[in-house]
Amino acid sequence: MDTICVVGAGTMGRGIALAGALGGFRVKVNDVSEESLGKASHYIETTMQHSVARGFLDKENAEEALQRITYTTDMGEAVRDVSLVIEAVFESMELKVEIFKKLDERTHPDTILATNTSTMSPTEIAASTSRPDKCIAMHFFNPVHKMKLIEIVRGLQTSDETVEFVKKVAVKMGKETVQVNEFPGFVTSRMNCLIGNEAMNILMEGVASAEDIDRAMKLGLNHPMGPLELADLVGLDTRLRNMEYLHKTLGEKYRPCPLLIKYVKAGRLGRKSGAGFYDYS
Ligand code: NAD
Repeated sequence: MDTICVVGAGTMGRGIALAGALGGFRVKVNDVSEESLGKASHYIETTMQHSVARGFLDKENAEEALQRITYTTDMGEAVRDVSLVIEAVFESMELKVEIFKKLDERTHPDTILATNTSTMSPTEIAASTSRPDKCIAMHFFNPVHKMKLIEIVRGLQTSDETVEFVKKVAVKMGKETVQVNEFPGFVTSRMNCLIGNEAMNILMEGVASAEDIDRAMKLGLNHPMGPLELADLVGLDTRLRNMEYLHKTLGEKYRPCPLLIKYVKAGRLGRKSGAGFYDYS
């Protein structure tokens, strides 16, 4: 259980890598994009520095954790001698299936293969491999180093041993788990996407400003973040992919808000692009 590989170094992958290293694992981060790897490394270093400065993390622990993380665009190298791979690439079934096929060919047959999908079927992803018993979904939350939960979703053929293995990994990372039966959107994304989409519809209909919608949900319903600021944090492209999958699988009530589609077309992707429902420039 010493070494983990994280495939995809975007918003979630870099956070998972950080949490893994802090949990004592050696972590190999893999991405097709050098730029993503560079941004991930910068994010991990600055997040550690902030945590040390605020007294949440011991300096020595932070330095040791940083040394446990390596970055590579070479997937073959990244998955060598790892006991667990956590895939965190774009929310696309086609892409996840392609990655899992490669992981199945390139990893030791005992390696556990987990997906960080927010909505999709781990059974369908696992079906592209020769080891569906060793495939599972570990759904982390953003920002990973702060959020306590991992939603664990077993596919049709996931073994009890695989479930126990990823639960132990979660504990080492300082996380708590809930176990969920496979269904599109699991528990959290299914509800959260609906709340966010309704907030976008309310904004589009001119009922209230983005600021007031978020304030209403925080002060009136005690949500720690407003649904529009949360969507900006998630990434509007990622949220749109989640909505499209839920719309396809669960039906009309998940139809993506036209305003969300318009923002994504314009390249307004939330915090990561500098503007979404709010301006971050
Ligand atoms: P992102 O767009 O920030 O990052 C995706 C990364 O995958 C990019 O760095 C990209 O270069 C990389 N990538 C693409 N193809 C690749 C390949 N073939 N090999 C290796 N890397 C590849 O996406 P994200 O927001 O981090 O989402 C990743 C996954 O996590 C999605 O399944 C998403 O639904 C899920 N998720 C996201 C959030 C969130 O808040 N953003 C929360 C929970 C789960």
